[in-house]
Amino acid sequence: HSRLHFSFPSYLLLFSHLFVLLAIFFPPLLYVLLPLTLSWEEISVMDERNTPMRTYQVCNVMEANQNNWLRTRHISREGAQRVYIEIKFTLRDCNSLPGVPGTCKETFNMYYYESNNANLWFIKESQYVKIDTIAADESFTQVDVGDRVMKLNTEVRDISNLSKKGFYLAFQDLGACIALVSVRVFYKKCPLTVLNLAQFPDTITGGDTALVEVHGVCVNASEEFEAPKMYCSADGGWLVPIGRCVCKPGFEENKDVCQPCRPGTYKASATDAYCTKCPPHSSSPQEQAVECICEKGFHRAESDPRSMACTRPPSAPENPISTVNETCVTLEWSPPRDTGGRGDITYSLHCRKCSGDGKKCTPCGSSVHFVPRQIGLSSATVLVTDLQPDSNYSFTIESQNGVSDLSPTPRGTVVINVTTSQTVSVVLKERRSKDSVTLAWQGPERPNGAIVEYEVIYYEKNQREQNYTVLKTRSNMMTVDGLKPGTTYVFRVRARTDGGYGSYGGEIELETNVLAIGDPNQSTILAVSIAGGIVLLIFLSSCQDSSRTYIHPHTYEDPNQAIRDFAKEIDASNIRIERVIGAGEFGEVCSGRLRVQGKREIYVAIKSLKAGYSDKQRRDFLSEASIMGQFDHPNIIRLEGVVTRCKPVMIITEFMENGSLDTFLKKHDGQFTVIQLVGMLRGIASGMKYLSDMSYIHRDLAARNILVNSNLVCKVSDFGLSRVLEDDPEAAYTTRGGKIPIRWTAPEAIAYRKFTSASDVWSYGIVMWEVISYGERPYWEMSNQDVIKAIDEGYRLPAPMDCPVVLHQLMLDCWEKGRSDRPKFGQIVTILDKLIRNPASLRELANSSGWSVGGSYKLEL
Ligand code: AMP
Repeated sequence: HSRLHFSFPSYLLLFSHLFVLLAIFFPPLLYVLLPLTLSWEEISVMDERNTPMRTYQVCNVMEANQNNWLRTRHISREGAQRVYIEIKFTLRDCNSLPGVPGTCKETFNMYYYESNNANLWFIKESQYVKIDTIAADESFTQVDVGDRVMKLNTEVRDISNLSKKGFYLAFQDLGACIALVSVRVFYKKCPLTVLNLAQFPDTITGGDTALVEVHGVCVNASEEFEAPKMYCSADGGWLVPIGRCVCKPGFEENKDVCQPCRPGTYKASATDAYCTKCPPHSSSPQEQAVECICEKGFHRAESDPRSMACTRPPSAPENPISTVNETCVTLEWSPPRDTGGRGDITYSLHCRKCSGDGKKCTPCGSSVHFVPRQIGLSSATVLVTDLQPDSNYSFTIESQNGVSDLSPTPRGTVVINVTTSQTVSVVLKERRSKDSVTLAWQGPERPNGAIVEYEVIYYEKNQREQNYTVLKTRSNMMTVDGLKPGTTYVFRVRARTDGGYGSYGGEIELETNVLAIGDPNQSTILAVSIAGGIVLLIFLSSCQDSSRTYIHPHTYEDPNQAIRDFAKEIDASNIRIERVIGAGEFGEVCSGRLRVQGKREIYVAIKSLKAGYSDKQRRDFLSEASIMGQFDHPNIIRLEGVVTRCKPVMIITEFMENGSLDTFLKKHDGQFTVIQLVGMLRGIASGMKYLSDMSYIHRDLAARNILVNSNLVCKVSDFGLSRVLEDDPEAAYTTRGGKIPIRWTAPEAIAYRKFTSASDVWSYGIVMWEVISYGERPYWEMSNQDVIKAIDEGYRLPAPMDCPVVLHQLMLDCWEKGRSDRPKFGQIVTILDKLIRNPASLRELANSSGWSVGGSYKLEL
């Protein structure tokens, strides 16, 4: 509250002098002024503490027709539209004055007159505007003002909508006995304040239009996040703050100011709350850093977040090995010992063909092929095909990562030399009997390593396709027996060294005798064994704890206990919601960040329960968390925790950058290699194996319920109780009641709700079909009824375009009518792993023109 520069006694003192002066200098006006000066008298009295004070008094109660005016000087309004006037006075009770006539009054009037002129010496009575008639709350009776304690009245009035420079106040007495002790004139203002880093100036309150809108100004080193605004209310309080400022990059908030980040810390974005420590291998020597500078030898890729450690290029790949198979070679190597601190290592190969002595080499050219590719390989293996037989090659394997291009140091490389094709030459000896043949041969001239064994292959002439036999031996001689008499056989021999198989030597035709002769048996036949060597696991196999089973939240009497047992409570203040990314049945799904004590901030998805939910809805919503919280597998969406202690109730999970699989595939139609697609399927199968090992049945496995992260890792999501199916737009009501996603569901589950892991396998087959067809709708636009009928009649979805025959076969196996005939998820994982290790097996494409019936043969509709 601000007082106008005005205090009653002293000004009245001045005033009376002025009147005297005026009376002296302007005699014709005396008659106007005289009643004023003569009626109201300035008198000194004692207050209750016996200190003297000045009052203005009038008390002409004995005479009728009083009209006595007392006026202030000009009071500047200083911009205020509403001004308050507090007066303190005493008023004498007419009854207490003996013998006064009926004209005695117990009130007086207060007036004002607005004017830009500060020096008016005369204002007509009629020009004043009346503020109010003032009466006493307490009047006093016998006590005389001169020597006793006074009873003071205090009254406050206000005048509003003032617009001129100032005003005059006046008091009119019509015949009362008054002592005016003080007049205080003031206005109210909202004081200067800083809120949400915005400064709001001292603001004078409004007139009758109550609230004054005030725009805040961002404090030093801050910027507007949302325009800051507040309202100054008529009684001087600030109301309804809106918007805020945030500290600029390089600054952080501390008690209403933005202070620079200290050396060693940084703040990259205005919306980050605080400066954070520089990530590893970086520093910020100066204050106010918006990012930290990488140490020498370390770099930050353009797409790296500034919160990420600075990294360096990887060291060279290690331990390269080759496995030759005729004119193909599989190269495998170990990842670099030093990854440079990154996870995005890729490999590229350079191929050179060299002379016999290895001294002269030339680039291989485009006739040599690399599977899956030559540049940018993400796994540490490649198949090189179409090499020339009997030749030397030198492969340089180079490792790189996201910062290799920023580093001046040469790439880490390792070289491996490979020799193709060691042909086994001429059969030297042969011995025949009625049912056996003995062969001998000479090893290759230049084997590329110690010879491990020889492989003999033979078949009846012209019958190769039906039946051929492979035998192995360590010696370079072998007797093959058990042959038919008088029959021509074709034999071929090849050698295997540490480096793999060589090419077969030429074909040798031999006919067995019709008559029995001797039966020499000089050679050893080794058991056939598939080429061993190093098997490189492309995907990490899942770690499982098979003793654990899933506990249904309904087995808990108190569902809140299930939540407490399986989900971590997160403090809502550690969550920053950033964007809405989707909508679920219970409310929005947002992305944001979660800060966990002592850990890096992580990106999370936040599902919140919208307001106005019932108890059952809250239980169902949280059941998803108490199910998810029991799982721990790289292909199952991970629960970070829940917020249940404050509203809204939230479920926090890891963030999957690429969203749901069906939408993701539609968006990238035709852009992945078969190996990549199989890799995704492998992940889903592995997640499902984990769930089935835990005895959890999903019931709604479909591409729309799989989420994909930035590394293309697929994770199974959408757990919950009844809600899962209620929530799925694909689910339709069946005649038996209950909602079922018909196209994804096994016939026995549709017919009599027999949901098992085997019915999940059926759904998995449909997911395979969705993935290979890049998100096509299963059974296209057929009606649910027609789908049920077609399945019952034995029809199955045909292979999608460009689908490897082995994958379609696996789908058909998943869609076996008898649920025990379907593969288990564990078997599916094994099959897919084999396909990934042996990409050649995916080369044969299925004919996708017609429907499939009962498994392996097809029918054109
Ligand atoms: P839901 O309630 O699980 O059906 O989620 C609705 C939508 O939100 C999904 O289709 C996704 O697009 C998105 N979503 C849900 N969870 C995540 C997550 N963890 N990461 C990214 N997007 C998600």
